[in-house]
Amino acid sequence: MAGTDQKLDADVIVVGGGNAGFSAAHAAATRGRKVILLERGTDEMAGGNSYYTAGATRIIHDGLEDLQKFIEHDDRHDRSEVPPYTIEDYRSDMERVTEGRTDKDLMEVLIKESRPTLEWLHSLGLKYRLMYERQAYEREDGGFLFWGGLHVGNVGGGEGLIADHTRVAKELGTDIRYGHRARRLIVEDGKVVGVVAEVDGQEVELRAESVIMTAGGFEASPELRAKYMGEAWKNAKVRGTPYNVGDMIEAALQIGAAPGGDFTTCHSIQWDAEHPQNDSNRELTNRLSRQSYPLGILVNKEGKRFLDEGADYRNYTYAKYGKVVLEQPDAFAYQVFDADLRPMVRKEDYEMPGVSVHEADTLEELADKIQVDKDAFLKTVQDYNENINEDAEYDPNTLDGRSSNVTPPKSHWAQALDRGPFYAYPVTCGITFTFGGVKTDTHGRVLNESGAHIEGLYAAGEMLGGLFSINYPGGAGLAAGMTFGRRAGSLA
Ligand SMILES: Cc1cc2nc3c(=O)[nH]c(=O)nc-3n(C[C@H](O)[C@H](O)[C@H](O)COP(=O)(O)OP(=O)(O)OC[C@H]3O[C@@H](n4cnc5c(N)ncnc54)[C@H](O)[C@@H]3O)c2cc1C
Repeated sequence: MAGTDQKLDADVIVVGGGNAGFSAAHAAATRGRKVILLERGTDEMAGGNSYYTAGATRIIHDGLEDLQKFIEHDDRHDRSEVPPYTIEDYRSDMERVTEGRTDKDLMEVLIKESRPTLEWLHSLGLKYRLMYERQAYEREDGGFLFWGGLHVGNVGGGEGLIADHTRVAKELGTDIRYGHRARRLIVEDGKVVGVVAEVDGQEVELRAESVIMTAGGFEASPELRAKYMGEAWKNAKVRGTPYNVGDMIEAALQIGAAPGGDFTTCHSIQWDAEHPQNDSNRELTNRLSRQSYPLGILVNKEGKRFLDEGADYRNYTYAKYGKVVLEQPDAFAYQVFDADLRPMVRKEDYEMPGVSVHEADTLEELADKIQVDKDAFLKTVQDYNENINEDAEYDPNTLDGRSSNVTPPKSHWAQALDRGPFYAYPVTCGITFTFGGVKTDTHGRVLNESGAHIEGLYAAGEMLGGLFSINYPGGAGLAAGMTFGRRAGSLA
């Protein structure tokens, strides 16, 4: 323990103050460990990607009555239906969206422990609620049916999450040191014994029995994005913190940690293309997202559709569609809605201050206002409208099978775009987080190339590679961070 050895600054050093880092810090601190948490940002800029989130957290549950044990009361509860989300559902979602490329051992832990971990965080003082505005459309009778397996979120979104975490960490005695950028791991006799951090341009050495790395992925580094995912990724906008530039992944690889997971794909979404501050915007955070595309259609500069907007619930497609937009000519596209669809889009995103939108009374006028091949665009909309399966009843809360049988098809939620005014929202690719990191066991203990533990070194959150590839089920990022953060902090 610290105190018996003068050279130690703490028992546990956590590098990175996002959701995973705080979860690790709380777990260690509640065991009586002395914890220092190093965060690169100042206290105004701290919280990592976790600050930018909506707080949506994917956990198993048995329906509303079960959830009411730990969510805040809402007057709408008695008119809400929340289908249970089972272990099998979670497993099938993980397997399906990652196309089987998830580490099975890590996945099983995520599925089974995210729920008790959330309840543990709740017992420490974090607050949760049902996510009405994102996960249910209000029905004509005023009722709500939740969809997509993702129902619970933090009160106050990511800001609320980080405020709650910070308060709890302070209550538990964690020493949070802002403005500390960890650069290297100190290794003695094969064991990690501390870190070297930059503080105001000076190097500071800090020592502890264990180091838990929760310093995010490399999504904010254009160089590493290009290196691992291809040159085009230099053009992506960074949705979250500018600080996750892969420092700790590189530091760990340098001392012999094995790389873990898929470095070639990432989580990326459709993002406001024309807003002048569409990189790491801390004020608008998540509101530059454009997530109501399943209701309308997407067209590129050539005036053509290029993906199935209604392939599945948004939670299961949004994280892979940013890449598809990046691949379009000049890396942008438009989401198009008509007057009937426009009231259904998510207000939080589409009514944000300074939202980029083009509006016109007719499709012809709209085409003149945006950068598309006009003839091709008009033909695309006409074909889409004429090929809708009118036998299926439109219901945005279910997979309604109301398709438009064009190429590519729109599998669900096809509604003719035929009543003005019409709206075009320009979108580009916003990168959320990367999937590659270091390899660990299911307790977050970092492994070397031979599969042995690197003593004293742990990782969690975005830094832990292996859970996701190609795509991810919405809400699994926060779930993974808290689950593996807590596990690492329970051992360190
Ligand atoms: C806009 C947006 C919305 C999202 N919405 C959701 C959502 O609703 N639900 C969900 O599950 N996921 C969501 N995600 C993904 C989610 O943010 C991540 O999966 C999760 O927050 C990662 O947690 P983390 O603790 O690993 O990383 P982070 O929260 O990014 O924390 C990493 C921390 O490490 C710090 N750091 C980096 N380098 C260093 C260094 N060298 N030294 C010291 N500190 C360092 C950073 O400053 C940062 O504070 C969203 C992401 C974004 C960007």
